Amino acid sequence: MRAYDILECKRRGKELTREQLQFFIDGYISGEIPDYQASAWLMAVCCNGMTDREAAILTEIMANSGDMVDLSAFGDKTVDKHSTGGVGDKTSLIIAPIVASLGGKVAKMSGRGLGYTGGTIDKLEAIPNYKTMMEPNEFMSAVSEVGMAIIGQSGDIAPADKKLYALRDVTATVESIPLITSSIMSKKLAAGAHSIVLDVKVGSGAFMKTYEDAKHLATAMVNIGNRLGRQVRALITNMDVPLGAAIGNALEVIEAVAVLKGEVKGELYDICVALASEMTALSMGLSDTEAKAAVEEAISSGKAFDKMCEWVERQGGDSNYLKDTSLFTTAKYSLQVQAPQSGYISALNAAALGAASVGLGAGRIRKGDQIDLAAGILLERKTGEKVEKGDVICTLYSNREDTLSEARQRCLEAVEIGKTPPTKQQLIYEIIK
Ligand code: URA
Repeated sequence: MRAYDILECKRRGKELTREQLQFFIDGYISGEIPDYQASAWLMAVCCNGMTDREAAILTEIMANSGDMVDLSAFGDKTVDKHSTGGVGDKTSLIIAPIVASLGGKVAKMSGRGLGYTGGTIDKLEAIPNYKTMMEPNEFMSAVSEVGMAIIGQSGDIAPADKKLYALRDVTATVESIPLITSSIMSKKLAAGAHSIVLDVKVGSGAFMKTYEDAKHLATAMVNIGNRLGRQVRALITNMDVPLGAAIGNALEVIEAVAVLKGEVKGELYDICVALASEMTALSMGLSDTEAKAAVEEAISSGKAFDKMCEWVERQGGDSNYLKDTSLFTTAKYSLQVQAPQSGYISALNAAALGAASVGLGAGRIRKGDQIDLAAGILLERKTGEKVEKGDVICTLYSNREDTLSEARQRCLEAVEIGKTPPTKQQLIYEIIK
């Protein structure tokens, strides 16, 4: 078998066999197939797609490319969550401690930023001394004692995804239903949780731009998970505008803390309650109504915030930064972006704002780039709000002054201001059970 023939087959849009896919993935992990051939294959998949059967086989091969975590010691209380990626999506930092405070077991392996979307591991690194890597036995004891742990995807969990994910990030091959399905589900299957809640984002800041694509992706992932013996639910949620007000690593941690302290309500709070309720219902065997009431009580009583501090300390992080978020170092430079005219904000293009934030240093442009943890954007206004010319729409932060003016331009392009208030968008479109 030759990689060249597999590339040609996919370029012509043909379905690859299990043997071909196994050969290609094994060859890429071992280094026999170089990045340039893997890039060509990814691009061919992006352009020509895969059949459902092909995507399911690819997912299985990728899940089996490394270790499969055994969480059976925790019975059926283990629950994981994964978002297909969005801008300002800090929900994992909020919902994992909520669910753990209610008895669920969250043994989570998260990723780094991808394209213009952020990643939980980059965000957690904004907390001084937080260890994103742990030995397997340390990870298991943290889950057992605290009820949760969040670490980076270890080299042995779905290594095929780890390598392909970094390559997709820099070859414009992220937005593909079969590649996203296999990437997410291979990691989730290998990570071992009994139940999985998926947050499938749709809109300008999501990899899925239409509801139909998001539904296709959600259904494919739920089906693959069920076929392999897991309980899976998927929420299809809006990502036309960034989630919450903060985009960028330290800024998002600060916002997550505010939600857990009960200081911030609104869309971010609502979506976290919805996701945490699904996770609690699945892991604790509660009805949807019981789970939602328990989740809201965990936030209002402070139990979930206490759990966040316990978790961060267990992973070496300094929880004083959570108790007093003014301790986070702020970026050296900032710039306010003002409304160019009066009216109602009718769009805040999330992808453009995500790209602006990457340009400020909050994400990577090349594989392995260092992130500026303090960089990012704080939105002062959101869609639907009335603004007067000159009002501040958002503030940009960076440690590199030369990034500010281009980011400002991108933000201005992301904002649309109309004469009348726009129709309110739905936050959660559907829950696939
Ligand atoms: N998140 C992932 O883990 N993989 C993708 O491909 C997209 C989002």
